[in-house]
Amino acid sequence: MKDLRRPIHDHHRSVDHLRSTRIIEEGLRRIEEGLGRIEEDHREIEHRLRRDSEELRRIKEGLREIEHRLRRDSEELEGLRRAQEEYYSRLMRASVELEFIIHRNEELLEGEDIKSHMKKIIVLDDGEVCSVCLQDMNVGDHAVILKCSHIFHEKCTLEWANRKPNCPLCRHDVRKDRQ
Ligand SMILES: [Zn+2]
Ligand SMILES: [Zn+2]
Repeated sequence: MKDLRRPIHDHHRSVDHLRSTRIIEEGLRRIEEGLGRIEEDHREIEHRLRRDSEELRRIKEGLREIEHRLRRDSEELEGLRRAQEEYYSRLMRASVELEFIIHRNEELLEGEDIKSHMKKIIVLDDGEVCSVCLQDMNVGDHAVILKCSHIFHEKCTLEWANRKPNCPLCRHDVRKDRQ
């Protein structure tokens, strides 16, 4: 009995075998397809990587160039700043000098102005005292008479007039006539 069923068993077995072989073949085919796609993807990724690294290299080069320019520009700027400081300090010194010269000229002009209002005289009488130096004015001394009629040594008056345009005694402005 057993031997009679055997071919049926064999038939079943060969059908199963055929089916599983087909399934394996189908699986292998799919795996190959998948591998093909993976290879393709890999090539695409490699291509992109090459392109990206080339671009990165160009960007780095650009950055280096920009850095270089920035350094050069900042050095130039520093130079300009120093030149500007130097220029301002010179300008300041020149303006101080100018101020000083103007002030001196004004003083000199004022002195000249005051001198033109003094009347030079020679002392002929003893007894007068110069209110600037508090010394006697002797006969023959060079003196000055102001518009207020006060008399002082010429030397003393000139020294005084360098500082103030007023009579040392009565404060009258020596440039103005007595009213
Ligand atoms: Zn005097
Ligand atoms: Zn006076």
